[in-house]
Amino acid sequence: MKDLIDRMPEKLRRLPELAYNVWWSWNAEARDIFRRLDYPLWRRTQHNPVKVLRLVSDQTLIARSQDAAFLRRYNKVLMDYDRAMSNGHSWFHVTYPQLTHKTIAYFSFEFGLHSSLPIYSGGLGILAGDHAKEASDLGLPFVGVGFLYPQGYFRQHVPSHGWQEAVYEPTDLTNAPIRPVVDDAGQELRIAVEMGGRRVHARVWRVQVGRVPLYLMDTDVPENEPWDRELSARLYSGDSEMRIRQEIMLGIGGVRLLRLLGYDPAVLHMNEGHSAFLLLEAVREQVATGMKFSEAAELVKSKTIFTTHTPVPAGHDAFSFHLIDKYFQGFWAQLGISREDFLGLGYQREQWGDAFNMTVLALHLAGQYNGVSKLHGEVSREMWQHVWPGRADDEIPITSITNGIHVPTWTAGEVRHLFNKYLGADWEENHDDPVLWERLADLPDEELWRVHAVLKGKLMNFLRSRARRSWVNGMCDPTEVLVGGTLLDQDALTIGFARRFATYKRAALLFTDMDRLQTILLNMHRPVQIIFAGKAHPADEPGKHLIQQVYTMAKSNQFGGRVAFVEDYDMHSARYFKQGVDVWLNTPRRPREASGTSGMKASLNGIPNLSILDGWWVEGYNGANGWAIGERQFDNPEEQDSHDAESIYRLLEEEIVPLYYNQDRDGIPRGWVQVMREAIRSNAWRFSTRRMVKEYTTELYLKAMLGAPVAEPA
Ligand SMILES: *Cc1c(COP(=O)(O)O)cnc(C)c1O
Repeated sequence: MKDLIDRMPEKLRRLPELAYNVWWSWNAEARDIFRRLDYPLWRRTQHNPVKVLRLVSDQTLIARSQDAAFLRRYNKVLMDYDRAMSNGHSWFHVTYPQLTHKTIAYFSFEFGLHSSLPIYSGGLGILAGDHAKEASDLGLPFVGVGFLYPQGYFRQHVPSHGWQEAVYEPTDLTNAPIRPVVDDAGQELRIAVEMGGRRVHARVWRVQVGRVPLYLMDTDVPENEPWDRELSARLYSGDSEMRIRQEIMLGIGGVRLLRLLGYDPAVLHMNEGHSAFLLLEAVREQVATGMKFSEAAELVKSKTIFTTHTPVPAGHDAFSFHLIDKYFQGFWAQLGISREDFLGLGYQREQWGDAFNMTVLALHLAGQYNGVSKLHGEVSREMWQHVWPGRADDEIPITSITNGIHVPTWTAGEVRHLFNKYLGADWEENHDDPVLWERLADLPDEELWRVHAVLKGKLMNFLRSRARRSWVNGMCDPTEVLVGGTLLDQDALTIGFARRFATYKRAALLFTDMDRLQTILLNMHRPVQIIFAGKAHPADEPGKHLIQQVYTMAKSNQFGGRVAFVEDYDMHSARYFKQGVDVWLNTPRRPREASGTSGMKASLNGIPNLSILDGWWVEGYNGANGWAIGERQFDNPEEQDSHDAESIYRLLEEEIVPLYYNQDRDGIPRGWVQVMREAIRSNAWRFSTRRMVKEYTTELYLKAMLGAPVAEPA
C-alpha cells in the first residue's frame, strides 16, 4: 500500500486507505469515487478499487486532484468513512460500554466479501462475509479468522456439451484488498503448527472489513515442503487428508495466530464444524498451565459457540481414526486424556465406519449451539439427539438464529434511492425496525415498477455483453451465445434460479413435464422465461449432471431461447440476478435447505419468492409477499417431486402469470406491484444481518462475555 500512497497527489493521499478497506463494498459513494476516477478502468477491473489505483495513470490522478467536483465527493466520502470507523456511537459501544475491551473471534473456512477476493464458494461464505460487515456496522469487538486461498474457488466454464469445466486461476494478490501482517521488525509474521511430524508454516494477511480485521492464513511460503505449500491453495478441493490438514491449520493455527497478535478472545465462534479443532487447542492451552482436562473443558465451554449450517449428513466433515491417529497422536497426552477418550470426543458411526465427526466434537466441547432457521433448529435437535443420550428432542440444547443478509451490500443502487426518498435518510441506520418499513405505503406503484424495469434492463444488458465478449474473444461457439441468454426478452415474465447445483436443490424440477412447461414458456401473449446459474462442487458428479440437464434444455429449440444458463455464478453476477428478475425460484427438498439467503436478497429488492416452505421461507412467507410451493409432505421423494412440480405449474398458470400480465393502461400490473412492495416490507428488516447479529449478541455472545445470561437491552 505504501507504494500507492507515494504516488498519490497530496489531495488524494487517502485513496489507497479507502481502497484497502472493503468498506467500499457496501458504501456506494465510496465505490463511486473509484468509478469516477477512471470509468473505463473501473469496468475493465470488474469494480476493483485496488486494481484501479494500481493501473490509473499519473495524468488522470493529477487531473482529478484538480477537479473541484471530484474533490468535494472525495472529501465527503472521507468524512463518512472516518465516522464509520470511529466506534463512539455504534450500537455495541452505546449498549454495552463495559464489554468493548473483550474480543469475539469468528472462524470460517470461507468469507464472501467481494468478487475480487475469491475465497468463498457460496451461501456459507457469503453469510460469514455479511456477518463480519454487520459486526463492523454495529461496532462489535470482532475479528475474523480464515484462509487466503491463492487459487481461490474455481471459475466455471460450460462448453456446448453442457459438462462443467473447472478453471483455477491464481488470485491476483497484488490487486486484492489484502496486506501481509508484519511484526515489529517489519518481517512477515509466521505461525506454525505440527502436522504429522512436520511443522507447517503460514503467513498471515489482513483484510480490513470496515472496523473489523479479518486474518487470512496462507501456507504458500518457501519454508514449507511443496505438499504443505499447496495446503491452502484452493477452497474445497483435495481428499480427506488435505481437508483434515486444512482444518488443523484453521482451528489450531487460527488460535495461535490470535495469540501471536495479542488477542485473548472472550468468545470463539465457529461458523460450521470446519474450525472445531480450535476447541482442542483452547483446552490444550489451559492444561499446559496445570489445569485438569475436565476443568479446562468447562472453561472452554463457557467461551465457545458453534453454528451448524446443514441437515445434509455429508455436509458434516468426519475423519477416519487412521487420520486422527496420524495427526493427533501426541496431542491427547497434552490434553491429559487417553486415545479412547480423545476419539470419544468426536466419535460417530458413519455409513463407511467409525469416524471422528467435527460436529460431534463441537457439540461435546463447545458451550452454545445454534441452527440457522427455526425449522433447521428443530431438525438439528433431532439429528444430533444421540449426542445427548437419554434426553428428549426438545431438551437438546441447540437453539436457532435465523440467517440474514447485509442490507447495504445487497440493496440495488436504484432501490436505495427509492428507500432514501420514501423511508427517509435514516433508513439505513434503522433498517431492522419493522415500523420504518410501513412508510413504503407512500411509495407509488409507478416508481417501484419503473425502478424494477431499469434493473431488469441492466440484467439483460449484463447477459448480452458477457455473451458478446466471449463471442468476440473467440472463446465460445454459437450455442453458448444462445444458452447465455441472448434471446431473452425484456418484457417477458422472468424467473431466476441461481445457486449451487446440489441435488437436493432440484434445479431440474421445472422440467418434470416438458409439454406443460413449453406451453407456459411459449405462450404468445404471456411468455415466461427462466434464467439458471450456478456451480456444482468439483467432486459432485450428480450436481454436474443437473447442470448438463438444464443446459440441454436451454439449448433445445423446444423452449425457443426462453431458458438460459449463465456460467460462472459469483457475487458479481449474483447482484444482477437478485435485482433484475421478476420471480425468485427455490426448490429444495424439505428440510434440507437449512436457511437459504438468496431469496432474502431478491425480496429486499422487491422480487417475490416462489419457494418450497423450507429454511427461512417458513418464517418469511405470509401469504401476500410471494408464493409457497407444495401443500403436502410425502415420504417418497419421487412422489414429493411430482407433487411439487405440479404445484409450481399450477401456481404459474393460475396465479403468477395472470397477475404479472394484468397490466393497466399505463402498463403497470397493480396487483403484482403490491406483492413486490409487500416482499420488501415484510422481509427486509427481519432477514437482515442487523437483526441477526444483534440476536447473536444478546442470545449467545453476551452469555459468553459475561459468563451469565443478561437482560435484553432497552
Ligand atoms: C446469496 C448467495 C448464495 C446463497 O444462495 P442460496 O440460494 O441461499 O443457497 C450463493 N452464492 C452467491 C454468489 C450468493 O450471493
